[in-house]
Amino acid sequence: MVATAPLDIPVIEPSSRVQEFLQSPRQILINGKWQSAASGKTFTVFNPASGGEIAQVAEGDAEDIAQAVAAARKVFDDPTHAWNNMTPSERGKLIWKIGDLILENLDELAELESLDNGKPMGVAQVADVPLSADLFHYMAGWTTKLEGNTIPISVPYAPGAKFHAFTMREPVGVVGQIIPWNFPLLMAAWKLGPVLATGNCVVLKPAEQTPLTALRLGEIIQEAGVPDGVVNIVTGMGETAGAALAAHDEVDKVAFTGSTEVGKMIVNAASGNLKKVTLELGGKSPNIIFKDTANLEATIAGAASAIFFNHGQCCCAGSRLYVEKDIFDDVVAGVSAAAESIKLGPGLAPDTEMGPLVSDEQLSRVTGYMNAGQEAGATCVAGGTRRGEQGYFVSPTVIKDAQDDMSIVREEIFGPVVVADPFDDIEEIIGRSNDSTYGLAAGIWTNDIGKAHRTAARLRAGTVWINCYNIFDAALPFGGYKQSGWGREMGHEVLDLYTETKAVCLGL
Ligand code: ADP
Repeated sequence: MVATAPLDIPVIEPSSRVQEFLQSPRQILINGKWQSAASGKTFTVFNPASGGEIAQVAEGDAEDIAQAVAAARKVFDDPTHAWNNMTPSERGKLIWKIGDLILENLDELAELESLDNGKPMGVAQVADVPLSADLFHYMAGWTTKLEGNTIPISVPYAPGAKFHAFTMREPVGVVGQIIPWNFPLLMAAWKLGPVLATGNCVVLKPAEQTPLTALRLGEIIQEAGVPDGVVNIVTGMGETAGAALAAHDEVDKVAFTGSTEVGKMIVNAASGNLKKVTLELGGKSPNIIFKDTANLEATIAGAASAIFFNHGQCCCAGSRLYVEKDIFDDVVAGVSAAAESIKLGPGLAPDTEMGPLVSDEQLSRVTGYMNAGQEAGATCVAGGTRRGEQGYFVSPTVIKDAQDDMSIVREEIFGPVVVADPFDDIEEIIGRSNDSTYGLAAGIWTNDIGKAHRTAARLRAGTVWINCYNIFDAALPFGGYKQSGWGREMGHEVLDLYTETKAVCLGL
């Protein structure tokens, strides 16, 4: 059993503004109206720093999903509806306004996110919330640039005939979006930005652990002036509300971010009407440090942040740390020292550097892997314990002496646990890096630019960071090879996945 080391957790009351938001049960947004779940049920949202209740939220299920899909369908199918007749420029301005309003409410959103998810509020203030705003601002610019092509055609069985052929980009229709709890607001932004930019209608289902900022975003979207029924938000459980959304016959596309296991269920559920599917799933990303890295101190700091950022609850976390043999001990010592210096505490405490894991379930999962690794003979160099008896805190953990076939090396832990292992040469490490069912991200640290590019080209991963890690931008596509997903988020690539291409051919 993983031991528990003491941790003094201060109790911090949320601001009155946030308390007010949490006072009465939060409702579901359907067709512009906030309403209780059809069943009348609510579920409890917990503060991961204390395990105490912070809010009651409507527990939507298949009936609420049906109502929300019907509302979205009604808007999308009505050719006279304002949403379908807005000019691209008008639509862009609405989306831009959402970004502006997110920035206007930055502190409130960051506080709510921190309280609900456990992440330090300071991190939400500089990362989650500004990145969310930026995503809407970036997508706003694309509304006026969704162009087709004119295509010269040569039809062999119509000699001498003339045609004017071109393509148009049209919205896919009604989209179901299911998002996880690790970046609740940002994941909502990644999904809603492109859906709106391309003129679709949507039903969003936030994660049951962290529904609060998506609900606040729903209010912001209304304030920005997005017409009723375009964005519907149904809170509820994955197995009921999420499953109903993925299976619904009137949904044209489902976009999912979450575990690979649930991603496979989504694919099955979507097969009924063959709705389009995009998936952003798990990872077990290799972070490779060559001995010729330019600045060892900065590299060690980068390797620590690659795994410990967001408490390791990142699908792209650099959880397999591969270090060239000569500098292995130095890097492990450095990353371990960084792990031990991280200040744990509730997200709302100003000096907190790492908050709790999101839930009791995640606490069991992460400590379960810590156990499994040690039982299998791996060595914990730092951490390896639960912290405190309250809330869901664990120590940032560094493990060495693991074998490549151990579960801690092969499976996604989704916590602040890194497995470090030495390597001898580049061919060996490219092979071991690619020996994974996942292919989301990878890191490379070297001062040799040729080696960096050669290695990047051979890694089977959707993102490769060289001499940096966890760099995200609305313009940079993100997504996975292999079982890390289908399709891409962000950049202009995502717009292809929210549009159908229509070919029109006019005989002249
Ligand atoms: P995690 O295991 O990290 O909690 P999940 O993949 O279970 O991540 O959850 C991500 C999202 O998927 C959440 O919104 C959750 O409610 C939803 N979800 C979970 N199970 C299902 C399911 N069977 N069908 C549809 N959505 C689901």
